[in-house]
Amino acid sequence: MFYLCRQMRILNKNNLIIAVDGYSSCGKSTFAKKIAGKLNYKYIDSGAMYRAITLLCTKKNIISGEKINIKALELLLADTDIDFRFTDTRNRHETFLNGKNVEDEIRGAGVSDYVSQVSEIGQVREKMVSIQRRYGKEGGIVMDGRDIGTVVFPEADLKVFMTATAEIRAKRRYKELKEKGVDANFEAVKKNIEKRDYIDSNRKISPLKKATDAIVLDNSNMTVQEQMGWFEKLLSKLNYED
Ligand code: C5P
Repeated sequence: MFYLCRQMRILNKNNLIIAVDGYSSCGKSTFAKKIAGKLNYKYIDSGAMYRAITLLCTKKNIISGEKINIKALELLLADTDIDFRFTDTRNRHETFLNGKNVEDEIRGAGVSDYVSQVSEIGQVREKMVSIQRRYGKEGGIVMDGRDIGTVVFPEADLKVFMTATAEIRAKRRYKELKEKGVDANFEAVKKNIEKRDYIDSNRKISPLKKATDAIVLDNSNMTVQEQMGWFEKLLSKLNYED
């Protein structure tokens, strides 16, 4: 089905829109970043945007247990700006919330524990999706997340849906946190991944699901290099302008 649809479309190699969706911690950002680097495209981590707004909610104390103060959230959203800027110190793009670099803060457990609840809220999604579409206007972009191929860019030229077993994803995430010097607990990391998968897949608005024309990449037993080889093969099958 995918090949039939895409082979009929004539694409311009310089401005494709590539959507990478999938479960938590299955290596979407590593994969998406590498693709963007290879094609010289923009890379947007849409999860970082949801994490940034969640960070703001925790700082402003508008989350209390399972409850989120929607009125206060609406006021915050109206006044919030999220963007990605290149930082010389780490030689990469990092997430800025209202002009402040929050790249490290948004990766902590304090944000991971609440991000899926905040991401369920329609007003939050509306604002994030409008920013994401602005980034994609001219193409030449790789964006990763949960609803990129289904909602943000349903007309994306290439859609990849990534998955791996929960055990393997938790092991990878745990290792990553340990390497960053974070005092992580394996069971807590695994629980958080399973909880986010559940909320993300079952929410009413824009749930995580494979777009009908996405191609599945199960990377449970694949190295990053093997994943890139898989992608290159896929890319070579598309139909390009001369
Ligand atoms: O990609 P990452 O794991 O950093 O995303 C954090 C959370 O943000 C996800 O668990 C999900 O709840 C939310 N998210 C989303 N839609 C996206 C990207 C992320 O709801 N497009």
